[in-house]
Amino acid sequence: MMPQAVADSNSTTGEVVAELRKRSAFVMVSHVKPDGDTLGAGLALGLALKRMGKRVHYFQQDPVPRNLRFLPDSDKVARDLPEDLPSDSLWVFGDMSDTSRAGEFLPPIDRENILDIDHHLGNSHFGRFNYVIETECSTGTCVMRLLRAMNVEIDAEIATCLLTTIMTDTGGFMHSNTTPEVLMLSAELMRAGADKEAITEEIFANKRVAAVKLLGRAIDAAKLDHEGRYCWSYVDDAMLQACRADGEDTEEIIGHLRSIEGVEAAALFKTFDGEIRVSLRSNGRVNVQAAAARLGGGGHFRASGLTFIGSLKDAAAAVEAALVAEGL
Ligand code: AMP
Ligand code: MN
Ligand code: MN
Repeated sequence: MMPQAVADSNSTTGEVVAELRKRSAFVMVSHVKPDGDTLGAGLALGLALKRMGKRVHYFQQDPVPRNLRFLPDSDKVARDLPEDLPSDSLWVFGDMSDTSRAGEFLPPIDRENILDIDHHLGNSHFGRFNYVIETECSTGTCVMRLLRAMNVEIDAEIATCLLTTIMTDTGGFMHSNTTPEVLMLSAELMRAGADKEAITEEIFANKRVAAVKLLGRAIDAAKLDHEGRYCWSYVDDAMLQACRADGEDTEEIIGHLRSIEGVEAAALFKTFDGEIRVSLRSNGRVNVQAAAARLGGGGHFRASGLTFIGSLKDAAAAVEAALVAEGL
């Protein structure tokens, strides 16, 4: 990997490694509605630190999604933290631009005790240590850099967690962030024993019938606007109930909207749990990170999201305006 990729983050690999070696206790923090990257990256680093004799806890506001429960140590992820947590524990936030993405249940944390590992555009560098590498395909590959620098053996369990981060954030090696280097790293992880079969089966192949039915409804409700360049749809409580589906069953929908011929930008409005969570995807022409940022969200050039408070009608109008402002 090119060393200059690290230069624009404000901590060097050496600084982060020194801090990881120095501290004795850690809390790995994942973002709300966790995906394979935030969770896999935290678990991989947590497992490695444990093997170095460190004390490790995992904090996550939301439960581990069904399709990620095969990950080693995922049964130790919780919203509660032990009372005797040392005050100089290092809180490692993975795969988020800001601490607010970890939810509302974190205790106040001194910035001195925060390490921010991420690959999002516009990360706010909220930690004392920030290891933000926008050119990495996943937060997991940022972690992999650290493990290599620490000379930690990547065993089969750690490899499975890391390969999960890559496969999640590249869409199973489909997205444009799948560089030759990413494929080399993935090969290395498979050689180290990563269980690609399990990742493929659990995350990509094994769909609940409720999710497939919900996909049908969302596609049925989809609209094509801007001469077919913009596709958007929604999922609401009634649709979830009719399909006996839940929030986890919505993951695949946005990719299908984006994959329609001629579509340059897609949006999915998820209007349940009392808020509207919006997922945006782009084919590479419109910067959906910039569009989401206009409405308080964030993400990547081709994949972003935001939370909207208001009606679906207002959300649809605001998102369309933000996309138009970014060139839709
Ligand atoms: P999703 O559509 O939920 O898969 O999210 C796509 C990308 O947008 C991910 O990189 C998320 O981290 C980011 N993202 C989603 N929701 C938000 C939000 N409310 N604020 C900031 N970033 C978000
Ligand atoms: Mn994520
Ligand atoms: Mn990620």
